[in-house]
Amino acid sequence: MDASLCVAWFEEAARLVHRDRDRLTRLDAEIGDGDHGTNLDRGLTEVRKALAESPPGSPAEVLTIAGTTLIRRVGGASGPLYGSVFRQMGKALQSPVTLAAFSAAFEEGVVAVERLGKAALGDKTMVDALAPASRALALAVRDGVGVREAVEQAARAAAEGAEATIPMRARKGRASYLGERSVGHMDPGAASSALFMEALATVARE
Ligand code: ADP
Ligand code: MG
Ligand code: MG
Repeated sequence: MDASLCVAWFEEAARLVHRDRDRLTRLDAEIGDGDHGTNLDRGLTEVRKALAESPPGSPAEVLTIAGTTLIRRVGGASGPLYGSVFRQMGKALQSPVTLAAFSAAFEEGVVAVERLGKAALGDKTMVDALAPASRALALAVRDGVGVREAVEQAARAAAEGAEATIPMRARKGRASYLGERSVGHMDPGAASSALFMEALATVARE
């Protein structure tokens, strides 16, 4: 992975989030305050702008710029949470950026969000999509799977993880205020995490 592929990842993620903005906002209206789609759409527009203004030289730099921008520009909880994933990834990423290096950095990014949000698997948050994606990547590395197939598997795991949040009862974030009433709705952050992984699979295919 080089810097331009990493930029392409955020551009594709921005495109998908923009496309699905209303769906993400609707999901958040059901169990939160109805701003997740607009929050992330705005944040990723700012990320695209920041990446275009100072073209980064390495994947780590792309991740750091994206993370910092999301922290600064997204008002909601998801900004600092996604920001910490990408900033930690940028910090942890070893060169050359092989699949194994990317997977290891992604794992550290997920640990960072778990720590910041005090969220674990099953709490009905973005962690429920990100952690399975991270595990799928790690297994693919272990099994010597090629890059495209590995990220496909990670994207599938994230999508399944997002689906799996539907019957969960939220234990973190705004949705947790609803208690039992949060059951039966997909977590918006898990849905957007699945889009991030879908975007990665798309750019890896090209
Ligand atoms: P806000 O809740 O501040 O309006 P958003 O709507 O943008 O922020 O983001 C909500 C999403 O953030 C949730 O769907 C969930 O996935 C994620 N989230 C919220 N709190 C936490 C937390 N403590 N840990 C992990 N993820 C969280
Ligand atoms: Mg919200
Ligand atoms: Mg909000």
